[in-house]
Amino acid sequence: MLKTFVFKFGGASVKDAPSIINLSKILYNRLRNHTVIVVSAMGKTTNALESILEKKIKGEDFSLNITILKNYHLDICSELFEPEHSIHHQIENHFIQLDRDLQQSLRVENFDQYYDQIILYGELLATRIVQEYLCSVEIFCVWQDARELIQTNADYRFAKVDWKKTTKNIKNILAPILTKFPVVTQGFIGREKGGSSTTLGREGSDFTAAILGACLKSHSVTIWKDVAGVLNADPKRFPNAVKFDELDYQEAAELTYYGASVIHPKTIKPLANLSIPLYVKSFLAPEESGTRIHHIKQSNHIPCIVLKEDQILVSFKVTDFTFIEEKHIHQVYAQLEQLKLKVNMLQTSAISISIVIDKQPFKLDRLIEALSGLFEIRYNEALQLITIKNHNPEIINQLMEQREVLMEQVTRSTFQMVAKPLQEAPNRPLYS
Ligand code: ASP
Ligand code: MG
Repeated sequence: MLKTFVFKFGGASVKDAPSIINLSKILYNRLRNHTVIVVSAMGKTTNALESILEKKIKGEDFSLNITILKNYHLDICSELFEPEHSIHHQIENHFIQLDRDLQQSLRVENFDQYYDQIILYGELLATRIVQEYLCSVEIFCVWQDARELIQTNADYRFAKVDWKKTTKNIKNILAPILTKFPVVTQGFIGREKGGSSTTLGREGSDFTAAILGACLKSHSVTIWKDVAGVLNADPKRFPNAVKFDELDYQEAAELTYYGASVIHPKTIKPLANLSIPLYVKSFLAPEESGTRIHHIKQSNHIPCIVLKEDQILVSFKVTDFTFIEEKHIHQVYAQLEQLKLKVNMLQTSAISISIVIDKQPFKLDRLIEALSGLFEIRYNEALQLITIKNHNPEIINQLMEQREVLMEQVTRSTFQMVAKPLQEAPNRPLYS
């Protein structure tokens, strides 16, 4: 069996020409033939494509958005390549194709499938540019379309991996190339058996890296980020957050479940099952050790804060003077499942069920439409869901001070609240 490595570079690590040059330097010292390099869409490209889709469905003009996105990619190419390099045409061609695809009609009912056929362009563009650039600086590597490897079901936007077929594809297609060259491929995207493209959920490239690592039984998977590793809070909000040198798989999985955006929630399991270590390292300080996630015995007692934005609190009240029963919960959950909405927090009272969900286009309207005959429904948008693991009163009070709390829940190890921030006050240091 080949001793392979998987590296994943997120959007921030390829956001402009200097970043791509930095990436090539990181690889220069570390690259072996048997390495898979997963690269995400550059900078905020995926969000930009989402805005285009939003305009398209509203019937608004998005031609300027396309021009901006195209120039963004072409400008980066002009900085990295000679004018006669084929990359400029390759990028133009992708945009011609994107334009053509956007001429297809889009309706609310086919939104998810349509989304997947469009959103993938960000990943194609980024991997083309990075692979061509690496070759131009004599880091010779091969471009691989991830859709030939990652086989999924047809749950567009949240596709589930067909592990059997994917493992077979990786063995038959990817492994032979890796005996000779490093491979650059996309994260996040796959293909269902009918041939349509699918995606694995936003920020899904980490998961792709884990899938590749697991199917190849890699030596390790490394995710290169703009933070020093996994920290006990988002350093952009909590300036004196501390980095974990190591973390147990279970603990890391829990933090991602609550919304820690440093790693995609699905990344841990496939690696933990095979005891493949996952490194989270900074592309800004590649010599530093980062965080090693693996099996460790002792558990961590440091408080961890996870904050999720753009949450919606929806409450369903029974209207016929009865009390909440299992059947009501079932009715709500059946709808949520159909809409592929995950519940981030749940609370029931005598007469109502309250849930916290992520904001997703059209989903709230559809949920209300489906259930308004059965319940009186109220909702609050633009909320924060805050989870504190290993909580203490000081941290809870500090976070509550700046917010109007709408719902809270506490267990011995975990405190959760959904709240409205009162003002954009900077968070005070965690341990003052
Ligand atoms: N580009 C995709 C996104 O932003 C996938 C990823 O970055 O992991 O969600
Ligand atoms: Mg991305």
